[in-house]
Amino acid sequence: MVKEHLEEVRTHMEEACRRAGRSPEEVTLIAVSKTKPLSMLKEAYEAGARDFGENKVQELLEKQPEMPSDARFHMIGHLQRNKVRQVIGKAVLIHSVDSLRLAEQIEAEAARQNLSVDILLEVNVAREESKYGFFLEETEEALKRISQYSHITVKGLMTIAPFVENPEENRDIFKKLYQLFIDIKSKNIDNGTMSVLSMGMTGDYQVAIEEGSTMIRVGTGIFGAR
Ligand SMILES: *Cc1c(COP(=O)(O)O)cnc(C)c1O
Repeated sequence: MVKEHLEEVRTHMEEACRRAGRSPEEVTLIAVSKTKPLSMLKEAYEAGARDFGENKVQELLEKQPEMPSDARFHMIGHLQRNKVRQVIGKAVLIHSVDSLRLAEQIEAEAARQNLSVDILLEVNVAREESKYGFFLEETEEALKRISQYSHITVKGLMTIAPFVENPEENRDIFKKLYQLFIDIKSKNIDNGTMSVLSMGMTGDYQVAIEEGSTMIRVGTGIFGAR
């Protein structure tokens, strides 16, 4: 089942790329495996998945050693500062850096462990009270501050769009984040490391791809309901 679902998602990704005149190689699919058993992650791996997304540090740390060494684990959920020590060096990319205090903690721990940590800044584009992240207008300033840290590389931006019935309702959210991404790139604040735009989930990844996403995070569409 996982294999068939993955193939279906890949087909839809390719179709969205074609509609947008983009190459499918520009978009990375992250299989969001949170709460799902290892057997399902292995099925996905067998079907070609290499990028996995988890939202809890403990779960990521449990699953990673059980998977082949070329499986990459992404930390996509809200990260508590007291968990930073454990997750850096394990997650290939932390998508959910949502405050300066968290970035400061990552820098301190990365310096202590002599690591370089790749992160994305989470942006709360829709200004939802229930969500974490910088507001659009705060993001550039946050990037300037965080870019001064020598053990962190900001690779790009991430957003979790609102839950909507019709994915078209999120098109404007994705457009806004893409515009910020392009603006920031053109200013070269980060010395050219800004290359990742993580947006789009099961309900809206095709629209996100049409609007410039380079990483989509798909859980339900691959592994079924949680
Ligand atoms: C759970 C989760 C996803 C995947 O959601 P689906 O709707 O199941 O595809 C993507 N991003 C984040 C941050 C998540 O927590």
